[in-house]
Amino acid sequence: MCIASKFRDINNSLLPGVKLIAVSKFQSSDNIMQAYQAGHRRFGESRVQELSLKQASLPSDIEWHFVGHLQRNKVKYIVPFISLIHSVDSAQLLMEINKSAAKIDRQIPCLLQIHIAGEDNKYGFSPEEIRSFLQEDSLKKMQHVQIQGLMGMASFTDKLDLVRQEFRQLKQLFDEIKSRHFSEQAKFCELSMGMTNDYHIAMQEHSTMVRIGTALFDQRKRD
Ligand SMILES: *Cc1c(COP(=O)(O)O)cnc(C)c1O
Repeated sequence: MCIASKFRDINNSLLPGVKLIAVSKFQSSDNIMQAYQAGHRRFGESRVQELSLKQASLPSDIEWHFVGHLQRNKVKYIVPFISLIHSVDSAQLLMEINKSAAKIDRQIPCLLQIHIAGEDNKYGFSPEEIRSFLQEDSLKKMQHVQIQGLMGMASFTDKLDLVRQEFRQLKQLFDEIKSRHFSEQAKFCELSMGMTNDYHIAMQEHSTMVRIGTALFDQRKRD
């Protein structure tokens, strides 16, 4: 099946209001352009160097999302153009984004990545860590980041009830954090959860953004 029809099928399977982030890591610019010509504009990447090269050579109205683990020393390369960083997994990284964005007077939309899976994924705040981080005053001093919500990855398993339970926990945490810390900020409204194998479940559990790669493109070369 061609890329344009895969995009059409996935778009048709989304619940109303759910945004599709096409994860294009390891995909050629040619594949990305096929999706672009079919009308798609939101793409997600997980490697800074690969993203920088693609951003420089592809159309400037593409909205680039960062979804992978971001090293602090690479923040400066993506801050000038990034639309949303889904994977802010430590307070130190958030401070670095703030510092780097201040230099060019941008405010960077960010999601806080929460560790919800059993063991698979080593990155992200635990629920306890995020609660104590938000209790501190440090976030208020960061004028150049805007926290728009949470992101999480479920366990990589075919136990679908476990996956659902993890998504449900993340949604509960999202609601708790929103009412405690962001009740006056309309912008705290994104819950990024769901990938090729679990996005149907994620949407039923109130995801607002799904990050899909494999189901949209041909097989990636490597991961
Ligand atoms: C690669 C990746 C995806 C897409 O995964 P698929 O299973 O190919 O849909 C989503 N989110 C993150 C963080 C990724 O690294």
